[in-house]
Amino acid sequence: MDTSVLVINCGSSSIKYALIPVDPDRPRLAGLAERLGSSDARLKGSNSLGEPFEQPLGSADHATALEAILERLEGRLPVAVGHRIVHGGEHFTRAALIDDAVVTAIERTSALAPLHNPANLAGVTATRRLFPDLPQVAVFDTAFHQSLPPRAYRYALPEALYRDHSIRRYGFHGTSHAYVSRRADALSGLEGGGWLTAHLGNGCSTCAVWQGKSLDTSMGLTPLEGVVMGTRSGDVDPGLHAHLSRQLSWTIERIDEVLNRGSGLLGLSGLTNDMRELEAAEAEGHAGAALAIEVFCYRIAKSLAALSCALPRLDGLVFTGGIGENSAQVRERVIALLPHFDLQLDPTANSETIRGREGRIDTGGRQLWIIPTDEEGQIATETRQRLEEAAE
Ligand code: ADP
Repeated sequence: MDTSVLVINCGSSSIKYALIPVDPDRPRLAGLAERLGSSDARLKGSNSLGEPFEQPLGSADHATALEAILERLEGRLPVAVGHRIVHGGEHFTRAALIDDAVVTAIERTSALAPLHNPANLAGVTATRRLFPDLPQVAVFDTAFHQSLPPRAYRYALPEALYRDHSIRRYGFHGTSHAYVSRRADALSGLEGGGWLTAHLGNGCSTCAVWQGKSLDTSMGLTPLEGVVMGTRSGDVDPGLHAHLSRQLSWTIERIDEVLNRGSGLLGLSGLTNDMRELEAAEAEGHAGAALAIEVFCYRIAKSLAALSCALPRLDGLVFTGGIGENSAQVRERVIALLPHFDLQLDPTANSETIRGREGRIDTGGRQLWIIPTDEEGQIATETRQRLEEAAE
């Protein structure tokens, strides 16, 4: 029997899927259905030979796209489905076997992630209909950070906002920080080390992990807080909103839109949110691109230095995500901004690390690692663990 887990990451107009076998040497099947709800929906992916395909889906909705995905699984019926759910609030401290009560609890946290949780749930509903007999597990971006102590998760706001409205730091990218810190433990031979992890993709966050537990993280109530991202501002003065409202008469919708979609690398550079393009533009003398990269790296270093306060001992740094895994320049610049951390970068290893491979890039001192993230693999692992526990 095939013991693969089907991982589903359902957005408002897209579904990412991956069929993950237990045996890492067996091929994964993965792809993306996008532009769902438009008249131009399509499914892209690769088969078990690694050959790409692209299939028009007309005006498919989520349910139709899932049927098309099913046909792309080459007859391999999964043993379970693992769903990425963005927000689990305080209710979910780990993955949960989905039943009606879990769906209701996820619906209750939707106020905290109004764009993401309803879309994630649409995937759960469609998948439960399509596979009524398969166990389904919800894996939350926030769950890994439920180990934060109050000093890290409480904002200095009136207590009632926490008590009555659940306003606190939740943190995101939990599956990625969990995965890379676990790999760092395994690769370094340090059982339960103290790691600072930097997930640098379009969304970016940092995390302090001690003995496999998240102790602090840069993202907060929403995924807008923290370091500079592709189009998100990260930290700004909380007084900014009132200032823009009073002085420029901006509506809260406009402020939210600008901070989420018009800021970050894109806003600073006035050019693009794509790090590759920014690096090329900086090399050609584009001042905005140079400033964007400088601010980006400085804010990451500053965030890592701040998060180091959470750790009883710092064993090393881990870089992951599209930028963290691929940009030697960003890694070098971040490390150069932490001279008091005893980090000794190996410039050759840093620039020659093979894309997609794990690699150690220090010559001594504290350990420096590049670890390609595997959020789908982590969701499949947590799905299996949850099922095994339920079977005991
Ligand atoms: P997402 O958060 O959407 O999953 P990724 O983790 O794929 O995104 O990261 C996307 C970012 O990674 C983009 O800014 C992209 O420019 C950057 N990136 C990808 N490859 C490289 C590279 N070779 N050098 C520098 N940046 C890169």
